Amino acid sequence: MTVYGSCFCGVVEYKIEGQLLDARSCHCSRCRKAFSAQASAYALVKPGDFSWLSGEKFVTSYQSLDGPGLLFCSQCGSTLCGTYKGEVNGISLGCVDGDPKIEIGMHIFVNSKASWEEIPEGVPQYAEWPPDDPN
Ligand SMILES: [Zn+2]
Ligand SMILES: [Zn+2]
Repeated sequence: MTVYGSCFCGVVEYKIEGQLLDARSCHCSRCRKAFSAQASAYALVKPGDFSWLSGEKFVTSYQSLDGPGLLFCSQCGSTLCGTYKGEVNGISLGCVDGDPKIEIGMHIFVNSKASWEEIPEGVPQYAEWPPDDPN
């Protein structure tokens, strides 16, 4: 399948040729700030499946010290993608257009969730990383 996404102002558009993987929501304090939300809503993409359709010159990045980075639209601030060692390895589900045929499969770092957040029931929750996560 092909999944499309775009930023809030619309200048940046991308596509993913393939399936999104391992959709998750991370409630740690870093993700709350990185995604400006109660948690991340994030899915992994296979290297090579991701490509920009428009506005790549408006994409700016933030690189954290320990490897992971984020890509943003410099015009509107939408958090579009996550990177690892400079390569796109996941996307923010909030910027996906349409139905990507995937659902949040786990909530992680729920021990760090914001005091004001209520996490929906019926989906596995982990205090920190899930037991079998490669991270
Ligand atoms: Zn934008
Ligand atoms: Zn997190």
